[in-house]
Amino acid sequence: MTVKTIITEPNKLLRQVSKSVDHVGKDEQKLMDDMLDTMYDANGIGLAAIQIGIPKRIIVMDISKKEGEKEPRYFVNPVIKNKDPSKATYEEGCLSVPNQFAEIDRPSKCDVEYLDYNGEKQLLKADGLLATCIQHEMDHLEGILFIDYLSKLKKSMIIKKLSKLKSNTAIL
Ligand code: ZN
Repeated sequence: MTVKTIITEPNKLLRQVSKSVDHVGKDEQKLMDDMLDTMYDANGIGLAAIQIGIPKRIIVMDISKKEGEKEPRYFVNPVIKNKDPSKATYEEGCLSVPNQFAEIDRPSKCDVEYLDYNGEKQLLKADGLLATCIQHEMDHLEGILFIDYLSKLKKSMIIKKLSKLKSNTAIL
């Protein structure tokens, strides 16, 4: 298992639409293991493959509390089957948009069909943080970031800040 580098905005890769996975085999499982390690290392609760530069429709998540036992979740080719019309608001952040947070409204509940770590078809009925998190991660598969829901002004301020940060960083 390997901790990979997380790509941050602005980066064209994050805007790419990820491709469906034909088969969940050893390579995909190795990728999911690496993604989980990378996510835990960065103290995140969700990560999409494109965030480490791989445009595959794969997501890992763990929304369990830090002190408790780990509850990793794996989603391959997730599809939203049903969305609740009512909205929930959470303050969201993203490992690819470091140190930026904003309140985002999303459907409060959703049903998601996906393949699990073993390639078995599953249906998840999500609500609360789980529903918000899976929708945030699934946006990554379409090249969408949470800052895209903000006003143009707010979004451009965040991107400017991140670009400046990047140009001032020397990775030695
Ligand atoms: Zn994210």
